[in-house]
Amino acid sequence: MFPFDNSYARLPERFFASVYPEHVGGPVLIKFNAALAKKLQLDLDPADSLRLAAIFSGNVLPPGAEPLAMAYAGHQFGNFVPQLGDGRAILLGEVVDAEGVRRDIQLKGSGPTPFSRRGDGRAALGPVLREYIISEAFAALGIPATRALAAVLTGEPVYREQAVPGAVFTRVAASHVRVGTFQYFAAREDGDAIRLLADYVIDRHYPELKGREDAYLALLQAVAERQAKLIARWLGIGFIHGVMNTDNMTISGESIDFGPCAFLDEYDPMKVFSSIDRQGRYAYRNQPGIGQWNIARLAECILPLLDANEETAVDKANGVLKSFGEIFQAEWIAVFRRKIGLASEEPDDAQLVQDLLSAMEEGRADFTLTFRRLTDLAAAEEGQAALDAEARFLEGFVPWEKAESFLPRWRARLAREPQTSDPASLMRTVNPAIIPRNHRIEEAIRAAMDGDLKPFHRLLEALSDPYADHADFDEYREAPLDEQKVKMTFCGT
Ligand code: AMP
Ligand code: MG
Ligand code: MG
Repeated sequence: MFPFDNSYARLPERFFASVYPEHVGGPVLIKFNAALAKKLQLDLDPADSLRLAAIFSGNVLPPGAEPLAMAYAGHQFGNFVPQLGDGRAILLGEVVDAEGVRRDIQLKGSGPTPFSRRGDGRAALGPVLREYIISEAFAALGIPATRALAAVLTGEPVYREQAVPGAVFTRVAASHVRVGTFQYFAAREDGDAIRLLADYVIDRHYPELKGREDAYLALLQAVAERQAKLIARWLGIGFIHGVMNTDNMTISGESIDFGPCAFLDEYDPMKVFSSIDRQGRYAYRNQPGIGQWNIARLAECILPLLDANEETAVDKANGVLKSFGEIFQAEWIAVFRRKIGLASEEPDDAQLVQDLLSAMEEGRADFTLTFRRLTDLAAAEEGQAALDAEARFLEGFVPWEKAESFLPRWRARLAREPQTSDPASLMRTVNPAIIPRNHRIEEAIRAAMDGDLKPFHRLLEALSDPYADHADFDEYREAPLDEQKVKMTFCGT
């Protein structure tokens, strides 16, 4: 039924703990991602919700599954924890998808594991819906991230501040190997395991590096590059991950673990939503620096693989860390150039973007609306339509003077674009109309807690085509009113 081929289960026993999902009382299917299941070549009937609920609650194991909890460590808010591991996630196994990419299929919230520590191994409905929504929004936006295959109610309560409905989320990932997986073995001074794991991820994620003499350095460089580019893409959509701990940074370069994450409404580079991030460590603007810090932790783990001579190894690692900043900068400006409609490059473009961002900060402008309205302005012909579009753009800024003075400089720069370039079309491919706004997610969760899943399904539908102008979904484009603004997000397991 699932074409399993479980490579991680073939690694030595100290890489994981075999563990079965715990039986739940009354599984009910919330959502099944039939399109993704098809891509994964899973033989499942989307109409058979009873069977889907049984499988994706963990009650029925598909033949060939070898359920396990992965071992990992991690720096949580800068503090090293030598053993974390999958405390409430169970990897069922791997399948190779229609494009030849190997994918993990993992249940999250399916009961305790040997890594649960004080946790109950369970997930609450709210966070499950949140992860579902964000995962699929990322997919539609075209930004690498783990995917959502299913969400199921367990029919059992979980106890957080109060009793809330329990649920299981099924996550699909290029793999669940993290920076923290390497740290787990480094903390145990298990050099053999580190080499094995490095070979494993090269095989799985970076096969082009296989056989290279400097394969481990190239691996570090490749991970740094994917993460630097990923974080630039996050900034481009106003995304704040919220918990960029080293255990939440993948080796594959996919975004993972959408807990207290949130999207910017008003632009504020120091914005933090997460209630547990009291120091603002993972603020919007700090994300590239943290990404680099996390890569430094990965570098420490594989240092002995980089060179027999420790000093030379450190030099090599430092070279990678330096390049992280450069790659991030290059990708960041590439992203934001497109966001303001530039296909060509001029040295002052970064300053032009900065000027817009500072107008947005001072004018408390909505991040998503600003770039979308600038897109509309680029698309508007001369005359009244252009005047209206300009008024609409400026309306988003209070005060608006800085934004107004940005416009002539932006137009002058657009005038220097090659004849063939089409700024509005370019902008429409990178400036979404619809993002998973925090207040809409919370609204969908609240309704679901009252038994109404319609807002959840509708929000998912709106997010499935984020770059289009759908009149039907107008309410999802709007910035929150003051009373709708989400001030804080919670880790909410
Ligand atoms: P996170 O902050 O979501 O990245 O999780 C950090 C660690 O806490 C991981 O090892 C998780 O498996 C573990 N964890 C989170 N929630 C629970 C839970 N309800 N039960 C057991 N372990 C959990
Ligand atoms: Mg995590
Ligand atoms: Mg989490």
